[in-house]
Amino acid sequence: MDTDPLHGRLALVTGGGRGIGAAIARRLAARGAKVVVTGRSQAELAEVAAAIDGVAVVADLADRAATDAMVATVRALGRVDVLVNNAGIAESAPLADTDDAMWDRIMELNATAPFRLTRAFVPAMVAAGWGRVITIASNAGLTGYGYTAAYCAAKHAAVGMTRALAVDLGRTGVTVNAVCPGWVATRMAEEAIARIAAKTGRDTASATAALTGMSPQRRLIEPAEVAHAVAMLCGHDARGIHGQTIVLDGGQVLK
Ligand code: NAP
Repeated sequence: MDTDPLHGRLALVTGGGRGIGAAIARRLAARGAKVVVTGRSQAELAEVAAAIDGVAVVADLADRAATDAMVATVRALGRVDVLVNNAGIAESAPLADTDDAMWDRIMELNATAPFRLTRAFVPAMVAAGWGRVITIASNAGLTGYGYTAAYCAAKHAAVGMTRALAVDLGRTGVTVNAVCPGWVATRMAEEAIARIAAKTGRDTASATAALTGMSPQRRLIEPAEVAHAVAMLCGHDARGIHGQTIVLDGGQVLK
């Protein structure tokens, strides 16, 4: 008898074409969910969707009209039971160079889009009496880092939304949680390493050590570890985990 609560569920993973999102999409599909992946890069999305018998929907989530169109397309496929707000960008700059455009870009994708998608899909989950909203925030949603006022603010916003909605949704069967990784081995970390190398003149190994050195485990987290946490939160026995921040950073930010 198949008792996996993900079997037959519809999951939407934003930014599902690569990195953490692709790992989550594969993991949820392996557990029996039908997975829709969305993002801007059609080729990446198509590759993931083909591998998991899923659905690729191209959308720029920094564009609200495009996001609304994506919501309509996904609703036509069925009720979204699992929403994984994963798409995000990271840019860093000192305060004086954090211009309005950078602030708006980061807030729109990392905080506003998760809010708007959660607002769009949660009512149907509530009506069904079951749902999972999981936002891939960051340990930057729990503490501060240098030169990242906008990114830290956006990730704190995502965590704050999660905590507030946990109160609102407590009696609905829908859980809302945030997963907060430290540095994960994806393109985002590769770009950070390249920036550090370019700005400091260090070689790649030394720039990588600047990131791994933040963790007591002295390593980057693997996307599969984040996917594991997301799949765990979808389980029936995880229904009491609600409004939480699951930190995956090798012990860097101790609660
Ligand atoms: P990544 O490899 O750069 O992937 C980012 C994903 O977001 C891509 O699929 C990308 O797809 C999508 N995306 C970016 N801009 C988008 C837009 N305007 N509209 C729609 N989708 C967009 O980075 P990642 O490491 O997997 O990051 C995933 C999440 O984890 C992010 O929220 C990030 O902040 C968080 N996180 C990452 C780390 C880390 O060290 N890597 C640590 C903590 C938290 P397209 O480019 O095709 O649009």
